[in-house]
Parts: sequence; structure tokens; C-alpha cells
Amino acid sequence: MSALGSVRWPEAAADYEELRVVSGPRSGVTIAIAVHSTVLGPALGGARMWHYESPGDGIEDALRLARAMTYKAAAAGLLLGGGKGVICAPSAERPEGELRRAMLLDFGDAVASLGGKYVTAEDVGTGAADMAVIAERTSHVVGLPGERGGSGDPSPVTARGVLSALRACLEHRFGDASLPGVRVCVIGAGHVGGRLARLLVGGGAEVTITDVDPSRRALAEELGARWVEPGEAILTECDVLAPCALGGVIDAATVDQLRCAIVCGAANNVLAEEALATDLARRGIVYAPDFIANAGGLISVYAELHHLDRDAVTALVDHIGGAVLHVLDEADRHGTTPLAEAQSLALQRLRTAPAAAA
Ligand code: NAD
Repeated sequence: MSALGSVRWPEAAADYEELRVVSGPRSGVTIAIAVHSTVLGPALGGARMWHYESPGDGIEDALRLARAMTYKAAAAGLLLGGGKGVICAPSAERPEGELRRAMLLDFGDAVASLGGKYVTAEDVGTGAADMAVIAERTSHVVGLPGERGGSGDPSPVTARGVLSALRACLEHRFGDASLPGVRVCVIGAGHVGGRLARLLVGGGAEVTITDVDPSRRALAEELGARWVEPGEAILTECDVLAPCALGGVIDAATVDQLRCAIVCGAANNVLAEEALATDLARRGIVYAPDFIANAGGLISVYAELHHLDRDAVTALVDHIGGAVLHVLDEADRHGTTPLAEAQSLALQRLRTAPAAAA
């Protein structure tokens, strides 16, 4: 594979274990794999297929996301490091047919060249069927279709993990983790949000749902949940706001308008910027750091990697609530934010890992 000469090489790459950037010989597209850390185990992180303005933007995305994966795995107590793969699509249109296959085979070769240091999985723009193509070139891939022995759709595990985090927040804020009568507003009733809404209604919570896709209203009707239009959801008066759509839902404009006691959902990067964690704390709003609350997706592929049974997965998912409670208590004790405590929990696990001490 040929190395790329013309891309900007971010200085931030210095504290990464490895950054591999290649031009795929079959597809001609730029492929970047960032390995942030293997201190706790192989660097597991999804393969993102996305169109970037420049290859440099794709490389920066791989670096940023790889670091986040290190934190997520460490905070969840998993023996995994952090990495991420990016396959730069030539246009905004979803690559199909021979081009898609060529891109995936090139990516598989790049993964193989790292000899197990990096393990890939599905991410934005890729799915289980794509993992099966990558598996033609490397064994370091998880998230394979169920019929191929893979863990399949991770969202049921993610939804259970978010519920575990949500209960921990209720315990912390109200001294009672039970669901009956708790008002929860779920923003985005997709794979995770839809399942979460179902679990919440099953537990006796009063659920409000919103989605930009009006067809999701059928789920609200089926569950007997309230429906609000997407623009109103963030301002809904509720006990728990559960963002389960895209990131950045809480920004400088919305943070002071929230009418909830708790923010806990599945979406990645719920806060448009980290400093907003301080604003939430100032307003007395309990925030479950997203990378702990949504770790169920990672646990699902981790289970596939290590052939864990259902009981082991349940134990790891239940551990999410324990981790959330821990960071909330520590934030109160130190006068910091749950986000800062979650980051320091992850760093502490990295520092005290047996491999780090060796
Ligand atoms: P999804 O695409 O199935 O569902 C997202 C839903 O949000 C869709 O129904 C979409 O119409 C809706 N939506 C988009 N923009 C919206 C808006 N502005 N307002 C209201 N609704 C909106 O995705 P998913 O798999 O359920 O993942 C949801 C979030 O959780 C994402 O941020 C994802 O990165 C994160 N996450 C998912 C998993 C997983 O296991 N699927 C794991 C970890 C994190």
C-alpha cells in the first residue's frame, strides 16, 4: 500500500501509539487507522465511512475518535484499548457496488497490517454486512452478522446500558432508582431510543417521545407515550432528558433553557462542548457522561471478541450504572463535574493497568 504524502499530519498524533494512513490500491481512497492506546487491550473502534472535505479531516476524525474510544473502554472497565478507522468516501453519496467492496477490502488489508493491535467494528456509514467483507482480508473484525457468529445489532445492549445509567442518576438525584411515575423525554426513537422508550414504559415511567421521522409517532401510539414535535423536546419539563439522536443537542443556547433534573441518553457527544458540563452542574442538572452511559454498544462487540455469555454481558451492562453513580458521587465530593470525574476514572484505570506498570 502506498503512503500518502500530501495530507496534513496533525501534531496531536504525537501521543498516539500508531497512525496508519494509506491510499487503497483497489479503491484509491484514503484510509486512516488511529491506534490511541493498547494499554488495556487491543484497540477496538468502528470503521467510519464518510465523505470529508480533505483526507486531513478524515485523519483528524480518526485521531479524535480513537482517543474517545480509549476513555470509553477504560471507564466501562473493559480490557480494550482505543482505536478508530476512517474510510474516506469520494463523495457524499453512499458508495455502492464494486467501489464499496474495493474500499472495504483495502480497509481490511490495512487492519490486517496492524497484526491485531487494532480490531474494527461497525460505525457510522458501515454495517454488519460490510464487516463480513472486511473479514475476507482480516480476522481482526467484530460486529459480524448474527448468522456468521457475530453479535449483530448492538442497540438492545446499548439501551439496557442507558437504562442502568438512568437508574443510577435517579438514585443519585432523588434517592430512589424506581421508574414508576418518572417523566422521561426520549429524543430520537431509533434503534436505541425506541428500545429505551419500550423498557421505560415497561417499568412504569411516563414517557414522551420525539423524532424528526414522523413515522416514529406510531411507536409513541403503540406504547401509550406522549409525542412532542422535535423543536419542543429539549424544552420539555421532565425528570430525565434522554438524547438518543445526534450529538450536540445541548449547546450554549439550550443549556439555560433545559427543564429537566437529569440528562442521560445514548447519543455520542451530547454536549456541543465539554465546558457545558460545568453549566449543567451550575444549574443542578445531573449529567451521565455519554461515553459511560452508551458503553453497551462497545460491550456488545467486546462480548463477541471474548466469546462472553449472556450473564457476563449482563454483569458488564449493570456495571455501567455503578460507574455512573461513582462519577456523580465523586463530582459532588470534589466540586467538579461528572464528565471530569469520568475522564479521571478512565485515566486512573489506564495508569494502574498491569501492562502500564510493566
Ligand atoms: P438511529 O439512527 O437508529 O436513531 C436515531 C434516531 O434519531 C432516528 O430515528 C432519527 O430519525 C432521529 N433523529 C435524528 N435527528 C433528530 C433530531 N434532531 N431530533 C429528534 N430525532 C432525531 O441511531 P441509534 O443506533 O439509535 O443511535 C442513536 C445515538 O446513540 C447515536 O448518537 C449513536 O452514535 C449513539 N450510540 C448508538 C449505539 C448503538 O448501539 N446503536 C451505541 C453507542 C452510541
